[in-house]
Amino acid sequence: MLKDSDRIFTNLYGLDDPFIKGAKKRGDWSNTKKILKLGREKIIESIKESGLRGRGGAGFSTGMKWSFMPKEIGERPHYLVINADEGEPGTCKDREIMRHDPHKLIEGALLASFAIGANVAYCYVRGEFFRETEALQRAVNEAYAANFIGDNSCGSGYKFDFFIHRGMGAYICGEESALIESLEGKKGQPRSKPPFPANIGVFGCPTTVNNVESIAVVPEIMRRGDEWFSGLGKINNTGTKLFLISGHVNTPCAVEEEMGIPLKELIEKHAGGVRGGWDNLKAVIPGGASVPLLVKEECETVTMDFDALRELRSGLGTAAVMVMDKSTDIIRAITRLSAFYKHESCGQCTPCREGTGWMWRIMERICVGNASVDEIDMLEEVTHQIEGHTICAHGDAAAWPIQGLIRKFRDEMIKRNSGNSKTIKAA
Ligand code: SF4
Repeated sequence: MLKDSDRIFTNLYGLDDPFIKGAKKRGDWSNTKKILKLGREKIIESIKESGLRGRGGAGFSTGMKWSFMPKEIGERPHYLVINADEGEPGTCKDREIMRHDPHKLIEGALLASFAIGANVAYCYVRGEFFRETEALQRAVNEAYAANFIGDNSCGSGYKFDFFIHRGMGAYICGEESALIESLEGKKGQPRSKPPFPANIGVFGCPTTVNNVESIAVVPEIMRRGDEWFSGLGKINNTGTKLFLISGHVNTPCAVEEEMGIPLKELIEKHAGGVRGGWDNLKAVIPGGASVPLLVKEECETVTMDFDALRELRSGLGTAAVMVMDKSTDIIRAITRLSAFYKHESCGQCTPCREGTGWMWRIMERICVGNASVDEIDMLEEVTHQIEGHTICAHGDAAAWPIQGLIRKFRDEMIKRNSGNSKTIKAA
């Protein structure tokens, strides 16, 4: 279990003052000038050495991502874009940072921007996060007033501006290139890659897009040292992480823990255990709606990190743990997610636009026992036709939960539909 002294987000629950007085008491904005004096290369090197992997879901090395930015600043300015869209079902961590510890994000944005040679950061906040935006804006104003950011950030001579941009609630704007399009005032639709944002990002300029949590942990890593951060967690899965536990647990919560904590320990120590006891557990979605579920036997031993969950053909994603006990109609639960992905498809590519609708309609029939057994195989085939054949990962995200359901609960799907002998055509 993570020691209190190793916690980064010491005001996660908002019990203390979220704003500048409280932030300074918690150690934010201390030695920032000294860190900036280290220089761009050193900061990037430290973040690489810390082993920090992006906290938005993909788990790519943050320091490595920064190093992809051009070394020299040419005619085109560099930009940092912070992804605060947080639309993944079950995920509620970035909003806690913005409303309870916003100065960590702003200080992190200054350091990250300096490291990539950007003088401007845009924070793209999910439209529904009204109070979070208010809190963040208040903290930004405080940071300007204290000269922590602005023309001479922390007395370092570095010019840095922080702008908040509110989204309008489309899930797909959490995808980095759709977010960039939306920030430019266009329809939020993902771009084909390459070119990648480090080459052509927002306004056609080199851009790094990072998640809120990835940026907010940077100041603490720089203050305490990369060895401290890499000493926590597991090899290749280092540091601390915010976990969100919801569903059929006694005390749903957001909690900071060490990477690699066993899932069972996470649920029992922090979320009061599964409703009705551990033996009442049916399945867990461990990383937000887009990752395949785990059955109870897997939950007994799995650890919460990128690599262990990938070995089980699931994923850490955003670390949003959704717990389902035996009262859950698991087919209905995944059908609901299919409806979500169908609704949120941006419609640009055929396999996703059409396929998410196909999958949802078949799932609806399977759910009510109005499908034939051979449709389960057909559904699985459709998921593979979508996976990997689309512009962005939305197609994969829609396919994976269904693949997980078929892998783990095929018997239940067959049982519910065994009375139907042949394919029933969709209306
Ligand atoms: Fe849009 Fe879906 Fe294609 Fe992504 S995969 S670009 S959401 S249609």
